[in-house]
Amino acid sequence: MFIRDTAYKTLRGVEAEIDALAARSGAEIALLGESTEGRPIRALCFGGGDYRKPELLYYALEHSMEYIGAEAALDAARRLADGECSEFLDKTNVWVLPVFNPDGYARVEKQLSSGLGLAFARKNASGVDLNRNFPVAFYHFPGSVFAGSPLKFSPHYRGAEPCSEQETRVFRDFILGRNFKISLAFHCFGASILYPYFYKKSKCGAHDTLAALAGKISFAQRSPYSVKPGHKLYLTNGSSADWLYDEQGILALVMEIGKLGVKADRPESWINPFFWFNPVDPREELDNIVPASLKLVEETASRFCGD
Ligand SMILES: [Zn+2]
Repeated sequence: MFIRDTAYKTLRGVEAEIDALAARSGAEIALLGESTEGRPIRALCFGGGDYRKPELLYYALEHSMEYIGAEAALDAARRLADGECSEFLDKTNVWVLPVFNPDGYARVEKQLSSGLGLAFARKNASGVDLNRNFPVAFYHFPGSVFAGSPLKFSPHYRGAEPCSEQETRVFRDFILGRNFKISLAFHCFGASILYPYFYKKSKCGAHDTLAALAGKISFAQRSPYSVKPGHKLYLTNGSSADWLYDEQGILALVMEIGKLGVKADRPESWINPFFWFNPVDPREELDNIVPASLKLVEETASRFCGD
């Protein structure tokens, strides 16, 4: 279930845990679609799934090597399966999509398991950065090294056109068919909670609401993260969060988990980029962020229900 010499699950282990959590809690499993290489993209739904209820989405692993994000989403699902926040689930559905980019996850798993153990990958099987492939400001170039690039060899290659990628289309169609009000994407690293805009240096219309939501999470953390609009960390176009907010009216948050993970006493973290992004032992950071992130369940129920 775990990749050798790491505290992180194999993709098969992630899928097995999704099945186990559903079996244990009665949550629904939805097959959203397939990746470029034909792997299933699956989400858990807590709350019964009636789309007339306001919905909340946690999603992770747009970027291949950001395993702690998938682990954070799974940890949120574990807590929901254990009954946390159950008092709000008659008013809201909570969806958890741990692995947006399963081909990327599998590729990193293969590198880590190969014995070389060095893993640096962020794109999908076609070499596209999925968090630059969304139909929002796609052709706009905000003048940043992190912006979506038209060049295939760039780590931030945006793809040939908006939604050129299978995974992006699966996610888009999933969102269009549901009733999401709030979303939280897990990425790493940066110890921050971000919100739109990412593609331009201006205040979005929901700035104060988004800052308050992010502030609630931060306030509930043992080691609080900074709260700011995404463009203050890095400017980028074509991101899922800007699309969710700008095109779908969803209050979209992004959490950049943790800090650069190089630790003096953990030699594996000195040379392997995987451990710059993912702590050797993720437990402490998960406990810092996941219970706090679940504050959004009550927020979704209280902000968007009529009574
Ligand atoms: Zn990322």
